[in-house]
Amino acid sequence: MGLLSLGTPLDWHDSKKYNDHVRENGITQLINIFKQHGPTRTNDTFLWGDEVEYMLVTIDDEKKWARLTIDKDHILDDLNDPQKSLHKSVDNNVLFHPEYGRFMIEATPAKPYNGNSLADYVYVEENMIKRRIVSQSELPSNIKPITLTTFPRMGCNIFTSPSAKPIGPASQSLFLPDEIINRHVRFPTLTANIRKRRGCKVAINLPMYPDINTKLLDDSIPKSRDLFKSDHEPFIGASKPGHVYMDSMGFGMGSSCLQITMQGKNIEEARYLYDSLAAITAIMLSLSAAAPIFKGFLVNQDVRWNVVSGAVDDRTFIERNIEPYPNYNLFGGLNVDLHSKLPSKTQSINEFGDLNGVFTKEGKPIQRVPKSRYDSIDSYLADVNFSTNYFKDEYNDINPPINEKVFNRLSSKENHHLFDKYLAKHFGHLFIRDPLVLFSERINQDNELENDHFENIQSTNWQTLRFKPPALYTPEELDFSKTPGWRVEFRPMEIQLTDFENAAYSNFISLLSKAIIKFKPNFYIPISKIELNMKLAHNVDSVLDEKFWFKALDQWNLNNNDFIGYDLSWFDRFIYEGNDELGKEGEVYMNGTITPTSNTIESITDVDDGGITQKYSINEIINGTDKFPGLIRLVIKVIATDLLPTDQSHHCDSEELARKLITIKHYLLLISNRANGKIPTIAHWLRSKVLQSHLYKQDSKVSEELNYNLIKDCVEVTDLSDKYLLEGLFGEVITDYLLTSNRTTTLS
Ligand code: ADP
Ligand code: MG
Ligand code: MG
Ligand code: MG
Repeated sequence: MGLLSLGTPLDWHDSKKYNDHVRENGITQLINIFKQHGPTRTNDTFLWGDEVEYMLVTIDDEKKWARLTIDKDHILDDLNDPQKSLHKSVDNNVLFHPEYGRFMIEATPAKPYNGNSLADYVYVEENMIKRRIVSQSELPSNIKPITLTTFPRMGCNIFTSPSAKPIGPASQSLFLPDEIINRHVRFPTLTANIRKRRGCKVAINLPMYPDINTKLLDDSIPKSRDLFKSDHEPFIGASKPGHVYMDSMGFGMGSSCLQITMQGKNIEEARYLYDSLAAITAIMLSLSAAAPIFKGFLVNQDVRWNVVSGAVDDRTFIERNIEPYPNYNLFGGLNVDLHSKLPSKTQSINEFGDLNGVFTKEGKPIQRVPKSRYDSIDSYLADVNFSTNYFKDEYNDINPPINEKVFNRLSSKENHHLFDKYLAKHFGHLFIRDPLVLFSERINQDNELENDHFENIQSTNWQTLRFKPPALYTPEELDFSKTPGWRVEFRPMEIQLTDFENAAYSNFISLLSKAIIKFKPNFYIPISKIELNMKLAHNVDSVLDEKFWFKALDQWNLNNNDFIGYDLSWFDRFIYEGNDELGKEGEVYMNGTITPTSNTIESITDVDDGGITQKYSINEIINGTDKFPGLIRLVIKVIATDLLPTDQSHHCDSEELARKLITIKHYLLLISNRANGKIPTIAHWLRSKVLQSHLYKQDSKVSEELNYNLIKDCVEVTDLSDKYLLEGLFGEVITDYLLTSNRTTTLS
């Protein structure tokens, strides 16, 4: 998202009459995009980029508190203002973007990385370090840009600096002041319109972490506030006993994550990549877990995902198929055609998810909608036109609601050469949603040149993956080598504390994508299994304690022998001795000095799909076994075969190349060691810090001073300044590497 244009956003009740207008024109724009880029755009470079989200935290060492900073958001404007600090961003190839929270910033590289250049994979961390230094240079030294997934005490009494009261009309939250929301009108409108469409406030209930003194009662809910009608919602069904109750968009959209976007060579390659990465989404959510504390409570889960999902859930009661609260409207903020049959709980739905005979005033069928706009993907795009052709219809085994009108239009005679049934289904599903914010100045658009109506719906479908089509261009602007093409965005990961970790996870996903495109594994499993994996990934320490559905490791359509030798020891052999012993390409590595990882397939608890889909530990999936390569070996082999300079593909005789490879080796070691449990996730590390603190009273609560201690530790880790803390999070080997390698960068 770029900087936001100003305009007049419409309130939900004014904007809803344009819902179909936005959808219809959005689909026209999509068709025009496909006409402009579909068949002809065939040879794009593998470019990629990351997005890192920061929270600005003010630390008071005297009073021992740490709070979210809500009066320094001008730094975003300054870093984009040619009269002020834009030069700092430009000179350092970084770009700052607004985010939902006023205390948040997002930063990306200004130009995407070249995925065919080894140097660029190593440059990622340098770019991330620069983003932190540039933003810090705009801030006083007691305010830190921290990459922590959730702020532990968000929503507790005073948690902002300066302080603000939770009495705002946009969110009507009992806990979060509207002053935490980005000042741009888009964001309070988004917040209010979600609530208005839904017909009540959002309600998120997370199970409390049960400890010996835990009351299993969220005693932070004010009982007697009478400011808005919604104030009583927690007492009429919104809050659940034993759970931490949250009532506002900020609890989700105020958390930070790490996203990676990659460009396919053409649309077909992008579709295959999208589908292949689907299998990895939950695995990477679990492997990046970093959010065990919400609203001052330790909770009985490790990640942010379902919180964000609930925080932007604009579905009405009828769409969710639940009874409305007493005196609340079943249809939320939708206008219903008075001739509609009043639906019953057991009312039948048709193949598109429509409730038979129930329509909005504008004639749109009202549907059952099983998932929030922010959730896991619902269907594969299918690799039917790609060389792999692995996809089978039975893999799309959930029937998400579809906008029939959109589906029919995309599948019509006129358009079906551009949209096969899988693409029609994909966009037909995204377009069941209503636009959430519409600017009055932007109602009428030139569908040949603009794509805001399409993006309005597309970019408020926040799923685990996003299939990003190109934009529309004038004939003069249309240069495939300079404009973004068909891209896939990987969105489940939680943000990590250090630039080293964020670079490691970014590298892992982009290199794995490169390896997927090269080696063409078959990762397809029924998509319902991926949904189950997403649930498992929420559990405490799921990375070690759960087993996840995955394509049976011997069904990847790869030959294990082709990957032997490409484990982490490859780096040492290549760097220190040259890789002669790998022999000629295609020959199997036979040197007995390799110690294959000792993992064996420990337990296959469930087998489905004729044995093709099974359950594995993340260790098995990532690190492989003596029989199966694991994802890491795919990554290492793609480095060894595609990313080394041609004159050094058999010998490493340059210190510079060695340094680059050692960096990447440590990125992969971090991923590998988190997968095998040698080192903890951030979630585990934070939870242990709370449980072991002398300030903790075994009541699941994180007090202001305990929060301060956690934030201080996070800052020390971020700055790599405390060896003892680093060893607790990364173990000795990685810590040694971090402290002995030169990771300082100077700004340009
Ligand atoms: P959004 O918020 O819509 O996901 P951003 O602009 O914040 O998008 O981030 C997109 C990421 O994609 C950035 O890291 C950017 O460098 C990267 N990117 C830009 N152009 C391309 C491209 N052609 N191919 C792949 N990645 C790209
Ligand atoms: Mg972004
Ligand atoms: Mg963002
Ligand atoms: Mg993004």
